[in-house]
Amino acid sequence: MAGKWEHLNEFIKEHEAREEAEFTAAWDKYKQRFNPFIACPECKGSDRVGQIEHERWVLTSNGVHEPVGVWKDCDNCNGLGEIQADENMETKHGTNTY
Ligand SMILES: [Zn+2]
Repeated sequence: MAGKWEHLNEFIKEHEAREEAEFTAAWDKYKQRFNPFIACPECKGSDRVGQIEHERWVLTSNGVHEPVGVWKDCDNCNGLGEIQADENMETKHGTNTY
């Protein structure tokens, strides 16, 4: 009896995993077609995804101002590291003028 249910559970687990994989694949396809993301041009060259290095002048203990590299979230992609390629098209869809 217990063995029967174990098999059922295994089947469900396997089925769910497969569905999830299929869903992910389908979702990726959907994203590529309707919602393509491209690497953010502002921060893709930096060492940290979604962040850009910018120099800030700080006063050191010697009394000298020196530039210090600090990381901050990229404004262009809000720290995501990628932006929507068809952002402009989408805003056009939003305004329906007849
Ligand atoms: Zn960015």
